[in-house]
Amino acid sequence: MDEDEEIPQEFQTNLKCPSCGEDLYLIFYNTQIAYEEGVSIETYYCKSCLFKQSAVAPMERRDPVRTTLKLRSQDDLRVVVYRSTEAVLQIPEIEAEVLPGKSATGEITTVEGILSRILEKLDIIGEDAEDPEKMEKIRNVLEGILNGNAPEMTMIIEDPSGKSRINSSRASRVKLGP
Ligand SMILES: [Zn+2]
Repeated sequence: MDEDEEIPQEFQTNLKCPSCGEDLYLIFYNTQIAYEEGVSIETYYCKSCLFKQSAVAPMERRDPVRTTLKLRSQDDLRVVVYRSTEAVLQIPEIEAEVLPGKSATGEITTVEGILSRILEKLDIIGEDAEDPEKMEKIRNVLEGILNGNAPEMTMIIEDPSGKSRINSSRASRVKLGP
């Protein structure tokens, strides 16, 4: 067997299916694609309703990239996002910024997962904030998006390693030159 091939592994995750709320399963494997570098292929799927989302992420470093997605509707909440360990995520309309985590591996999540986490952080920062009115405004906007009534927003991921992905055909990728 080729050394570069791994046997696909299946895990039960604690992510919930966006369609029916059951636990999602993850199939994960690393492979080589002809004329491409090594990639890891990650597929989330639901055994109850057969919801499925895949992400393909390169394992090697690439050129720095900025990926942008306009969030327009609740459908965008289900878009799968791969955030590498170096990615900085921004939503300029609410001045939100999520810096790289301490995790050694990248994270696969959804737009909804990212927005929910920003909301949770707001709760933690909460009363210590210098400008409670601004916090309240950001909270209202985020809850608005999650409930499907909010103005258009922009999700930007800047990644020096070029590995991050927003898994939507409407996402635009721009190389960041030196
Ligand atoms: Zn389901």
